[in-house]
Amino acid sequence: MNPTGTIFPFTERSRALQARVAEFVAERVMPAEAEFAAHAADPATRWTIPPKLEALKAEARAAGLWNLFLPDADHGGHSRHPASRDTCASMHGAGLSNLDYAPIAELTGRSLHAPEVFNCNAPDTGNMEVLLHFATPAQQSPWLGKLLAGEIRSGFAMTEPDVASSDATNIALPIVRDGDEYVITGRKWWTTGAGDPRCKILIVMGVTDPDAPPHRRQSMVLVPMDTPGVRVVRPLTVFGYDDAPQGHVELYFDNVRVPVANRLGESGSGFEIAQARLGPGRIHHCMRLIGLAQRALETMVERARHRQAFGKPLGGHGMAQEAIALSRCEIEQARLLTLQAAAALDAQGNKGAKDLIGMIKIVAPRMACRVIDRAIQIHGGAGLSQDLFLAQAYAGARSLRLADGPDEVHIAALARSMLKS
Ligand SMILES: Cc1cc2nc3c(=O)[nH]c(=O)nc-3n(C[C@H](O)[C@H](O)[C@H](O)COP(=O)(O)OP(=O)(O)OC[C@H]3O[C@@H](n4cnc5c(N)ncnc54)[C@H](O)[C@@H]3O)c2cc1C
Repeated sequence: MNPTGTIFPFTERSRALQARVAEFVAERVMPAEAEFAAHAADPATRWTIPPKLEALKAEARAAGLWNLFLPDADHGGHSRHPASRDTCASMHGAGLSNLDYAPIAELTGRSLHAPEVFNCNAPDTGNMEVLLHFATPAQQSPWLGKLLAGEIRSGFAMTEPDVASSDATNIALPIVRDGDEYVITGRKWWTTGAGDPRCKILIVMGVTDPDAPPHRRQSMVLVPMDTPGVRVVRPLTVFGYDDAPQGHVELYFDNVRVPVANRLGESGSGFEIAQARLGPGRIHHCMRLIGLAQRALETMVERARHRQAFGKPLGGHGMAQEAIALSRCEIEQARLLTLQAAAALDAQGNKGAKDLIGMIKIVAPRMACRVIDRAIQIHGGAGLSQDLFLAQAYAGARSLRLADGPDEVHIAALARSMLKS
């Protein structure tokens, strides 16, 4: 039994979904990992979508394991635009609270491909939430339904190579009004998912109001990928992993023109939308990391049981025991903290849960890096090789010490909040 279930009372619905998602990940997704890896290793298919991925998505959708991340109106899933509520209600996911969804996100984190199989992958989840909360029905209609159906993908382009983007007020991409259009020229990078041939829409943050106070200068605009002038410059790599076919890319906007009607919310509301986007997304990221660390620990235990060195199994050596025991403690600590943050988000909203969300963003990626590093060590050379999931898992966990805000920014914000109170 999962001991956290006794502290955090998951609903019966969540518990039933947890069991079904666990089974689907173990029996359908993880056995397909080798096929996905072979597809990505072949230069002819590298930036194309493995047919197996679409087949698994269809299976998960038919089984009702789809869009589970999306809360209902009672849990903050309503649109600000009353006219779009009915449309969106018909497309809603399971209507789970953040607390009920958190253990499901953990299970999907066990495999790199599982989040997409359930249409619960970043950055699409955050982008769907932004469209749901901040877009008008006219802005939603070309994109939101298709994203919720898993037919297209999206990117979120905020970070820029030329400014310290961990401070969102630095974002400098000019979005200049020209009559009824905005003209966008400049660079973005680390736009996750924009290398994917199915990526059709970008949410782009840039400066529309250069003379306003720092937090009111930026806006977010919808930029269809096929708009003339949108160029994918290159895929970026994390320790050599390009995460094809989704990728993390550098983009150049060369005099890109979009209607002013593509702006989300009021002019200057980009910072506010960015803040709203990140609350649930950070909980999902952290729970997925906990799932990944849990899988690394299970692999570590399995190896320590069977691999013999110096006359006994690795598990008979004190240092391997320490790696296993500390990993279990640290995973459980991070899990409890993250579930607490999810419960606080449900009860108090983004603002009330701010400190706890900052805490998990500091704790979970560091924990996952430590646990996966120990698992690599216990596997010797195999741990670093392409034969196991561990090396790529480490690259992913390490990325999350930067993506969605570097550790230091969360540490500084948490300390400021405590010093103020
Ligand atoms: C794999 C991956 C995927 C990503 N996906 C996306 C995406 O989809 N969309 C997107 O827009 N961005 C994405 N990012 C970018 C990520 O969000 C940024 O890299 C991050 O916000 C940091 O911005 P920066 O790189 O400009 O670093 P900088 O802002 O230049 O910061 C550099 C370093 O300065 C230090 N620092 C900053 N502030 C403080 C402080 N207050 N106190 C002490 N030290 C500080 C930190 O160590 C920080 O790491 C992704 C990044 C990675 C690695």
